Amino acid sequence: MHVFYKPKDLHTALFAERVKGNKIGLVPTMGALHEGHISLIERSKKENDLTVCSIFVNPLQFNNANDLLKYPRTLEKDIKMLEKAGCDIVFAPDVSTIYVTKPGLAIDFGDLERVMEGKFRPGHFNGVAIIVSKLFHMVDPDRAYFGQKDLQQYLIIKQLVDSLSFRVELISCDIIREQDGLAMSSRNQRLLPEHRVIANNLYKALELAKELVLKNHLEKAEEAVKEYLSPFKSIQLEYLEIADGNTLIKVGDLKDHSSVAICIAAFLGEVRLIDNIIVELN
Ligand code: AMP
Repeated sequence: MHVFYKPKDLHTALFAERVKGNKIGLVPTMGALHEGHISLIERSKKENDLTVCSIFVNPLQFNNANDLLKYPRTLEKDIKMLEKAGCDIVFAPDVSTIYVTKPGLAIDFGDLERVMEGKFRPGHFNGVAIIVSKLFHMVDPDRAYFGQKDLQQYLIIKQLVDSLSFRVELISCDIIREQDGLAMSSRNQRLLPEHRVIANNLYKALELAKELVLKNHLEKAEEAVKEYLSPFKSIQLEYLEIADGNTLIKVGDLKDHSSVAICIAAFLGEVRLIDNIIVELN
């Protein structure tokens, strides 16, 4: 496995592979890797000749300075995990390499970014779009792998790729969970022990909402989730949305939708977690 820090070195290595006709899969991450990230690497390995994992904590997508400061950074451990997983190339540039100048660019994703993460984290998706575009230019992958865990991010990137004609094929991968149901996340390691033991209730709340959605009790679902979570005083619910699986527009009538995404965001202490379940209808 090769580790590159400079786009030029990465480009030279990838150019040689592309000349040989090899297909390249990219897994963009912010590091502090866990089994969820590794599942993306494994999928890419199955579908491509060469897998590149980028590790870059992107300051542009953080709207909270403390969150950026506290974001776990474990590069050496990550490199070992990637080596074990059979990843071919790690790209781990530093901030000054990626942002030689601050991009004076604002991309508006319309309705898709007015809800959920876009609403509660102003500027977040602009930062995501800029770093993902840069990575697509630097790696020029045939396929790029993203987790359903960040569903809205996936849909935003899909819009970005369609709008700007990136040639990459996007692949959405299932959410990998801890045994108790908590969605794996780099932020989980920042949870206080007393918060970690109750964090899986976000997933349980989603399951409860799913049950009610399947029984066509949409209005009850939101209420039921709030009621379910209310005894857990240290879980501060930020949003629970039942939205169309493709547009994220709030669902009014189930029969107008082929899939519904139930999405949740909550703070446990200082740590903000998100999760979702997609319910396929018909
Ligand atoms: P991050 O390092 O948090 O930016 O995540 C990098 C990629 O891994 C994103 O596409 C995430 O959606 C994906 N990812 C994060 N957590 C999980 C998980 N539990 N299961 C599957 N994919 C995940």
